Amino acid sequence: MGMTYVPTTLSEALHLRAEKGARPLAGGSDMMVQSKRGIALAPEFPYPVMIITSIDELRGIRVLDDGSVEIGALTTAAEIAASEDVPWHVRMAASGMGAIALRNSATIGGNIGNASPKGDLPQPLIMLDASVVLSSIHGERRMLLDDFILGSKRTALSDDEIIRSVIIPPHDFTYSFYRKIGMRKANAISKLSLSAAALVKDGEILDFRASSGAAGPKVIRSQDAEKMLEGHMVSEIPELLPAFLEAWNNAISPHAMPLYRRNTTKRMLSFFLSEISSGAEEGIIGGGEE
Ligand SMILES: Cc1cc2nc3c(=O)[nH]c(=O)nc-3n(C[C@H](O)[C@H](O)[C@H](O)COP(=O)(O)OP(=O)(O)OC[C@H]3O[C@@H](n4cnc5c(N)ncnc54)[C@H](O)[C@@H]3O)c2cc1C
Repeated sequence: MGMTYVPTTLSEALHLRAEKGARPLAGGSDMMVQSKRGIALAPEFPYPVMIITSIDELRGIRVLDDGSVEIGALTTAAEIAASEDVPWHVRMAASGMGAIALRNSATIGGNIGNASPKGDLPQPLIMLDASVVLSSIHGERRMLLDDFILGSKRTALSDDEIIRSVIIPPHDFTYSFYRKIGMRKANAISKLSLSAAALVKDGEILDFRASSGAAGPKVIRSQDAEKMLEGHMVSEIPELLPAFLEAWNNAISPHAMPLYRRNTTKRMLSFFLSEISSGAEEGIIGGGEE
């Protein structure tokens, strides 16, 4: 059984990580399940662990000078869901994670660090071009979340690094869509999720994005498909839609998504785009859990 440490500062934690190879344990909602011990038994891990929940430097949500939002790794799903500073798509994803007790302990650092394809937060974060800040005793580096998550349960985290925070650049959307489809109405692990967003000014699509989660080893986003809409008028959507959906479909690797999920994703995208082209009022066009 590995040692358990409880660092109280980031510097202490980074030294434990580099010198003892200690793995961070935040809310523990993924790691406790992996420990697979019986009920009422303390978890045991075959490697050194550090409980990082006392490190204040990893907490909190703040708006940076350029309008980006920085979310500390220890911020819980409940805190994210309740923050007006956090973009709507990310709040929606956080508010649909598990039940309330889970949302009070599950952290954004753990959701990203676990890199489960079923994790709810990477999907909207990748659509928003979020990046992660990684700290080690040698300093900090920042990389796009889409590059950090390499595949199912695989990340680019080095053995001496800790996720410090997530940074979401500012954006401006006139239309937004988010939907998580699970097995039950609430407390369900995602079977499929989709975020989409558009910025339309004077009938022109200036920005369009979409991302899909839980349907393959990684979050799916197709910049080729997005570019097919950008710079066009909303009135052109009906004629652009088939090629857009084809490009989106091509972005999904052949075995990543079963047919019904592919079709559901395409239906949700068609719905969102058709609403925009038929002059829907600006705002949220679809949101929630099924
Ligand atoms: C009943 C149940 C329901 C669930 N429902 C959902 C759901 O609906 N949606 C969803 O997305 N997830 C769900 N989960 C999974 C889990 O709750 C989330 O992934 C959660 O965000 C994990 O965060 P945590 O703080 O508990 O992570 P932990 O278990 O503490 O850590 C998870 C992994 O991340 C690493 N890690 C944690 N913090 C850091 C850090 N700062 N730097 C580097 N690595 C770090 C750990 O070493 C570990 O490998 C559910 C889990 C359970 C048990």
